[in-house]
Amino acid sequence: MWDKLWYNASLVDESGTQLTNHAIAVNDSKIAWVGPMEEKLIGNARKTHDCHQRVITPGLIDCHTHLVYAGNRANEFTMRLQGLTYAEIAQAGGGIKSTVKMTRLASEDELLQQALPRLCAMIKQGVTTVEVKSGYGLNACTELKMLRVAKKLENATGMRIKKTFLGAHAIPDEMDADSYIDYLCDDVLPHAYEQELVDAVDIFSESIAFNLAQTEKLLTKAVALGLAIKCHAEQLSDIGASGLAASLGALSCDHLEYISDESLQKMAMHDTVAVLLPGAYYFLKETTPPPITKMRKYGIKMALATDCNPGSSPTTSLSLMMNMACTLFGLTVTEAYQAVTLNAAKALGLSKDIGQLKAGFHADFILWPFTDIAELCYGFGVDYDKQLIVGGTLFSLDSIDSGIK
Ligand SMILES: [Zn+2]
Repeated sequence: MWDKLWYNASLVDESGTQLTNHAIAVNDSKIAWVGPMEEKLIGNARKTHDCHQRVITPGLIDCHTHLVYAGNRANEFTMRLQGLTYAEIAQAGGGIKSTVKMTRLASEDELLQQALPRLCAMIKQGVTTVEVKSGYGLNACTELKMLRVAKKLENATGMRIKKTFLGAHAIPDEMDADSYIDYLCDDVLPHAYEQELVDAVDIFSESIAFNLAQTEKLLTKAVALGLAIKCHAEQLSDIGASGLAASLGALSCDHLEYISDESLQKMAMHDTVAVLLPGAYYFLKETTPPPITKMRKYGIKMALATDCNPGSSPTTSLSLMMNMACTLFGLTVTEAYQAVTLNAAKALGLSKDIGQLKAGFHADFILWPFTDIAELCYGFGVDYDKQLIVGGTLFSLDSIDSGIK
């Protein structure tokens, strides 16, 4: 006997084929069974839900966000529209340093109150798992504060939050890059690790940020602690960071507009996920898209995320990212769907728990108001009236709204 059964549903199988007349059975918080609908199944469950052939997907996964920060940079958007470049704004004290300043000044509760509506906006889009990075502190006190806020967001909403230490997001004014990496390796990361605030370690490897030697040092330290690793790589130029991170066992390399063939081959060899971030590409008006055709050729798994951050991707809409990935990068609907479900789960090291509708997986799924999976990517700026089932239970979006007032 099952607790609950959702039947007459449309599901997408691993190959991307849409299957109609399927059913999902749930016991407690886990999926107990998935298969073709038969009339006799209805008697096997205490509660049943007729889905009328509407699409069910796993709860969506936003696998790359900078969700926790103070203030915003709308003023810089105005400056950019007046013709100033990203670099000119940074030199004028804007850019990431202004967010670091505001985030250092904000209390833990203020950060939580500012991040929570952003998380709620994501949940309203059907996202049930979110990765949250630190990286606007650039000192022990604020980096740990951001990670504690990420942990509190999980308790406040009941969603799954993965915490990524991105102390190496930028070089602080107080130190040079080498001394700062030493400080992160010897002081900040071990403290964050001891306090169980870190699931993975990330670094911004770029000609304007951290070089290959610094990247190797920090990621090697993370691996020695038994932590997963990730890398912001090849967003603005190719320095070979994705190849290095893949060789060290990275779960994912993210951005990748300028990745070389050599690094692509290393990512393929180590089964590292390519996380594509069309929001930043669009907002920065970039013109070199990531090499999707080559990624397909090498069999590299692609994930998609919002990169939610105040500087280069101020969005909470994973749905819009799916549309952009199709229109700007040329992904198919199937690729975009897999990019926010099973491949995003893999980018977070959660392949065995979430991102697929399979027996034994967490019963986090979304019942959409449409019968064609293509609608997931087709509309943009559209907020579908959907049902979230989290841990096998219907999740009330209204309860989140009242929770933040
Ligand atoms: Zn990022």
